[in-house]
Amino acid sequence: MNKRWTYSKIREFVEKNSESKLLSTEYHGFSQKLLFKCACGTNFEKTFTKFKNNNQRKCDVCQPPKESR
Ligand SMILES: [Zn+2]
Repeated sequence: MNKRWTYSKIREFVEKNSESKLLSTEYHGFSQKLLFKCACGTNFEKTFTKFKNNNQRKCDVCQPPKESR
């Protein structure tokens, strides 16, 4: 079942489920990179899929990408 995400729903999700803020003002689809502002003040780009499904809800400084082994 695919849930259809709209910009306002995404912004709501970001506000409720993370300490980051959504800086992008438009959402065009799951492959689009959105601009976020981390709680530490760093801006970072990520697709909403990664943000939501992979729990990547902070910038690379606060949450370094996992190294693949
Ligand atoms: Zn950060």
